[in-house]
Amino acid sequence: MQDIRTVLLLIAFQQGLCAFSWWVGGWRLGLPRFVALHWMIAAMSTAVGLALILQRGVWPPFLTLVVANLAIMFAFVVMRRGVQLFLRLPVTDGEHVGLLAFDAILLLGFVAGEHTTVAVVGASVPIAWTLLRAAWESHAALLREGSRATAHVVATPLTILGALFALRAIVGLLAPEVAARPLHEANAFNGVVVMVLMLVGLLLNLVLALMVVGRLVSRLQHLSERDALTGLLNRRAIAPLLAREAGRLRRYGESYALLMVDVDHFKTINDCHGHAAGDAALVQLARVLREAAREVDSIARMGGEEFCILLPHCDQDGAMRLAERVHAAMHEAVWTGATQRLTVSVGVAVALAPEETPEAVLERADQALYRAKNDGRDRVVVAEPRRLAVA
Ligand code: GH3
Ligand code: MG
Ligand code: MG
Repeated sequence: MQDIRTVLLLIAFQQGLCAFSWWVGGWRLGLPRFVALHWMIAAMSTAVGLALILQRGVWPPFLTLVVANLAIMFAFVVMRRGVQLFLRLPVTDGEHVGLLAFDAILLLGFVAGEHTTVAVVGASVPIAWTLLRAAWESHAALLREGSRATAHVVATPLTILGALFALRAIVGLLAPEVAARPLHEANAFNGVVVMVLMLVGLLLNLVLALMVVGRLVSRLQHLSERDALTGLLNRRAIAPLLAREAGRLRRYGESYALLMVDVDHFKTINDCHGHAAGDAALVQLARVLREAAREVDSIARMGGEEFCILLPHCDQDGAMRLAERVHAAMHEAVWTGATQRLTVSVGVAVALAPEETPEAVLERADQALYRAKNDGRDRVVVAEPRRLAVA
């Protein structure tokens, strides 16, 4: 008896610490405060519920049973609500109130009729439901976000915990003399339940923290790979894509191509209309490039007004077609703002030889671009052996 009480007290302390951690997360580490507040309330509510359970036999059953169990149920509901807000899912408040009401009715029924089985089932079923629903909706939402690993890491423990609470309800129904005993009473089944509770408390908070870390990592990854002005990939992000295409060429003989695109006389736009107008022109130019390229192509801003388009699975003819499409799109675009007309020079290099390094292909595309500039700009030049002037 004393052991179970000690463990319950430890879990209450543990939840108090978790609440403190969420306060630190929300008020000091930049986690959305309304989400941190939900998870902080959930941990505090669990601690309060457990503290009340420890007063059984001392305080009236209304407090130590009805309020205590409702506080724990409330904790799971608030935890799930926080998950819904964090993942920008619809908040299911109607369902939450329904679950709490279901729990309250069963618990009040227990106080009136002393049916312990009803109390155990009443306390376990809504918790199992909340955990399984939270697992289901967070898994679907994280998959939609593209975070496959996080989706599994979050959903698996939630599902296991939900299943354990469902199991408690089933065992409570089938073997009430063992399973449907008040939690603070010492028996083997309650010993297991209390240990599981300890695990649940820690694991749930860990899962929530993992979800936060997963989001931070993908945000940082996005920031480190993207150009802030245009939203295109940056020079760092295109390098591994280029290496992957080089690998495919070596392994499967699949050729790829590179286009280096540089805006002609861009300096004059800045000089005549100001830097802000230049920025706006670059943003529009990025949009034109995105529309002209294929879905499988990757576009990167290499710096200033210079862009690189990587064309996977592409031969010389395909690369020329796309280069001319990009070149023509500049003439066809209706430029907004101060820009009247924007032309580009394009250098094309097709990688056919498996031994050629991606750096060498980039170098050839750069040289072709340099020639396009020297030949009078506003044109496409393909790296040796073929040259094409379109202007
Ligand atoms: P060329 O036809 O030879 O390419 O001439 P250019 O003027 O386009 O090339 P140059 O390299 O001489 O100048 C590039 C200019 O691009 C210089 C710089 O002011 C401008 N630029 C580079 N990055 C940005 C940017 O982020 N925003 C704006 N507004 N301008 C930029
Ligand atoms: Mg330029
Ligand atoms: Mg340039």
